[in-house]
Parts: sequence; C-alpha cells; structure tokens
Amino acid sequence: MSSSNKRQQKKREQLRRVKASRTNPDEQPRPPRLNKMLQEAGREAEQIAAKLLKRSDRAELVEQIANSTRTLALKVIRSSPMDGKHACQAGCSFCCHTAVTVAPPEAFAIAAYLQDHCSSAERDKLRLRLDCNAELASSMPRNEYIASLIPCGLMTEDGNCMAHPVRPLACAGFLSTSRQKCEAEFKREPDRAAVPIDKFASAAGLCVAIGTQNACNGAGLDGTAIELHHALRRIMDTPDAAARWASGEEVFQDCLR
Ligand code: SF4
Repeated sequence: MSSSNKRQQKKREQLRRVKASRTNPDEQPRPPRLNKMLQEAGREAEQIAAKLLKRSDRAELVEQIANSTRTLALKVIRSSPMDGKHACQAGCSFCCHTAVTVAPPEAFAIAAYLQDHCSSAERDKLRLRLDCNAELASSMPRNEYIASLIPCGLMTEDGNCMAHPVRPLACAGFLSTSRQKCEAEFKREPDRAAVPIDKFASAAGLCVAIGTQNACNGAGLDGTAIELHHALRRIMDTPDAAARWASGEEVFQDCLR
C-alpha cells in the first residue's frame, strides 16, 4: 500500500474512532409506549392551559398555567427510563451556558418568583445581567451565542438557578447521566464523548411547552416562545404585563424569539 493510501486509511480510522466515541451507548430507540406518553403529555398540557385561558379571570391565572403544566412535565420526566440515573445536582451548571426560550406563561411565572424571592439589590444585579445577555443574544446568531458559553443571567455565583422551582421547561427537561461528560463538553475537550442526555426528558419538556404555546395561540394570545433574558426584561419594564398579555396585547413585540 502506498504511503498516501496508508495516510488516508489512518485518517478514516481516526474519524471512525471519533464517531464511535461520540455515540451515546445509552441511546436506544424509544419504545412506542414512551412516544405515546409524550404525545399525551403535549395534548394534556394544551387542554390544561386552554381550560384556564377560557375563564374570564384568565389574567390572574397566567402563573397557574405555568405551574400546572410544569407539574405535568415533571411527572412525565419522572417516567423516563433514565430516572434515577441522572447526575444533575445543585451547583452543577455546565448546561446553564446556553440559549433558553420560554413560553409567555413560563416567563410570567419566573418573573413573579424573582419579584417575590429576591431582594431589590439582587434584582438590580439581575437586571444588569439580563440587559447584557439580551444585547448579546440580539447581536449574534443563536448557534454563535450557544458556542460562546455565556452564563445564563439567572445563574448565581455558586452555580445555582435563582428561579429553580419555576425554571423553564427546557431546563427542567435537560438532564444528563454523566457530570464528567458534561464537563468535558463544556471545556470542549478534543476527544470528548457525547453527553448522555436523557432525550425522553427533554422531549417531555418540549412537548409540554409546545402544548402550552398551542393553547395560548388557540385563545388568540401570543404563545410563541421568547428568548429568556428578553422576556424577563420586557416583563420588568411593562406594568401589568401579565394582564396585558392575557387581554391580547402584543407585550413581547420586538423581543428575540
Ligand atoms: S434558567 Fe436557571 S436552569 Fe435554566 S439555564 Fe438559566 S440558570 Fe440554568
């Protein structure tokens, strides 16, 4: 074999090894039972939200929509075949350096939680981070923002989420079974293996979020997901934001989606 062929063969073998190392060994085709569960979760979230949005006092129920659909999402996530194997724990925040979007009810619930649970000094600091991250998110494509590993504005100095009990569904469903692999991914280590993400859990968060968005759209409201920092900043700047959104006003107009 010529030296050029040998080099090509070596290269192909290296590529094969890298590909193999990035294949998640825990990954199995999802059984139909779990797919059905995800579809049902999406439908149930839509029904829960649609029922509340039909009521005349819906402006007061916006947080309840987020709370009820989150409870549903967490219940479905606990049915994951990977439940009990998750490595995620308080203070581990490798995955909190990404872009997150939220449905409007989620954004209102998070804003209300921060208002009730943070001091005014904490809120002032948070506001600076929201402004900074919102500007950064507007200034670059989403994939570049994610690649830049910008810490989420809600992350505390010790790596916890300021709004953990009401965190976005996208975050609640983002679970991994290996802290070590998350760290390697965060550090972009050259020979890192794929992060063993619980795909059922993340699909559960997504299905519930989509069901909620569909119900909002069906009620004639803006249900489209919004970039987290933009959404929170807009709510802080808009008096009676939840009531105005529930009356059909375009509260999140011009926010990054
Ligand atoms: S909202 Fe909370 S859980 Fe989600 S990325 Fe930000 S700090 Fe992390």
